[in-house]
Amino acid sequence: LFIVFEGGDGAGKSTQVQRTSQWLKERNATVLTTREPGGTQISEKLRTLVLEHGHGEIDARTEALMYAAARAAHVQQVIVPALEAGTHVVCDRFVDSSLAYQGVGRGLGVDAVASINSFATGGLQPDATILLDISAADGRSRRIAGTGGVEESDRLESEPDDFHERIRSAFADLAAQAPERYLVIDANQGIEQLQEQITAHLEGLL
Ligand code: C5P
Repeated sequence: LFIVFEGGDGAGKSTQVQRTSQWLKERNATVLTTREPGGTQISEKLRTLVLEHGHGEIDARTEALMYAAARAAHVQQVIVPALEAGTHVVCDRFVDSSLAYQGVGRGLGVDAVASINSFATGGLQPDATILLDISAADGRSRRIAGTGGVEESDRLESEPDDFHERIRSAFADLAAQAPERYLVIDANQGIEQLQEQITAHLEGLL
């Protein structure tokens, strides 16, 4: 299975990514855990470039293409070979993050961003996308309490709550358009409670 976690900053994705991978391993599955932007050497360099430079220096189209380039390398070099070998892939963010952040957040439009991403991925779609839904205010307090790296903190805190609310509703719209692959969970719950809902859902897909 190709399993993707999506959601706003501070939703707790990385914790659930780790727990889901661990849960699959305990069932004796082979699992690859990865993230976007990132997942290959080149893609991690692109991640650092985009996140360090921020929007002051990188215009929206260039940013969208950099995320798409990082994703193309990640898909071809890592994700597809793993899936072909029968490995489950658990990925922190994928195309829908670009549709939300670059398409809606940066105002490029979902269709334009979808089109460069379909070129980048060759049309690869997750089997399951788990959306951890969180309000801007809750996301902010979690980031401050946070596990997120220093790398991201300046950039994130430069965005107003309004930006994060737009991202949130963009994800909700994407989920509503693809109910067959989406599981939407209220992320404002304990780690264990979230994990129970996720594993119950995946159990049905395995
Ligand atoms: O999820 P993660 O913390 O790794 O994301 C790193 C940063 O990149 C976050 O601030 C997120 O808002 C941003 N991002 C973005 N566009 C994407 C993916 C992530 O702006 N397509």
